[in-house]
Amino acid sequence: MNIIVCIKQVPDTGSVKIDPTTNTLIRSGVPSIINPFDMNAVEAGLSLKDTYGGSVHVITMGPPQADEALRNTIAMGADNACLLSDRAFAGADTLATSYTLSMAVKKIGDFDIILCGKQAIDGDTAQVGPELAEILGLPQMTNVSKLIEVKETTIVVEQELEDGCEIVEVERPCLLTVTKQVNNPRIPSLKNSMRAKKAEIPVWKAADINADEARIGLKGSATQVVKIFEPPKRTDRRILQGDVEEMVTELVTELRKRL
Ligand SMILES: Cc1cc2nc3c(=O)[nH]c(=O)nc-3n(C[C@H](O)[C@H](O)[C@H](O)COP(=O)(O)OP(=O)(O)OC[C@H]3O[C@@H](n4cnc5c(N)ncnc54)[C@H](O)[C@@H]3O)c2cc1C
Repeated sequence: MNIIVCIKQVPDTGSVKIDPTTNTLIRSGVPSIINPFDMNAVEAGLSLKDTYGGSVHVITMGPPQADEALRNTIAMGADNACLLSDRAFAGADTLATSYTLSMAVKKIGDFDIILCGKQAIDGDTAQVGPELAEILGLPQMTNVSKLIEVKETTIVVEQELEDGCEIVEVERPCLLTVTKQVNNPRIPSLKNSMRAKKAEIPVWKAADINADEARIGLKGSATQVVKIFEPPKRTDRRILQGDVEEMVTELVTELRKRL
């Protein structure tokens, strides 16, 4: 079972601020983490490998420091990793990101399952997994909360829906996006941590994956961020104090004023 896992290094969103002049995220000095859902995707890949054999190849598109995120996945047990990093990839929207990842997947070649997180905690669009599947012409299942069984040519999974769950059998090769319910990511072992330190992580540029320059980075992006801003803070909030009866009376008076 050969598995490719797509991970994204994201700023620890608890610490992210917006620059009001440039309308961009202030990333400097903000610690980076692996997107939490992608940790579940890595774990899902590793547990499939533990049960059925094969290999786990992790890829990310990002700046040079995303190498650290890839090493963390090797420390968890991934076999290989590669970093897609090129100035030409900068400014990519989800369409250009998915296209770039698709070209890396084609370069890697043989695979049974591609795993992604259900969404990134910074961009939050949940588009990259489905777009990647579409570009590669693969069946896809989003919001997977359980990997139930691998059969000869299919995989049976549980998909989380708004009002319940559905058990679905998907043809392989396929792409799955996973939720946090799917597993608990393992702690890196000492042996794999040593391997991760020494691992050769290739950096692939646009030319290495035969990417069409018109489909990558800002040029290949179909969407544009016009503005990014923090919602204005409300200043008209009051915390009522006193005993319950007093607070209820005051609350009702306040609500009546606003009707
Ligand atoms: C016009 C425009 C310009 C932008 N410019 C930049 C920019 O210069 N720099 C920048 O950092 N962002 C930029 N972005 C944001 C960028 O588009 C998104 O970060 C990226 O496409 C992923 O979307 P998302 O975060 O919503 O991921 P989602 O679609 O929510 O992620 C779902 C899953 O897809 C996979 N995935 C997502 N991104 C990657 C990745 N890079 N590598 C591997 N797997 C991945 C992961 O498994 C993840 O869990 C720009 C967006 C737009 C619209």
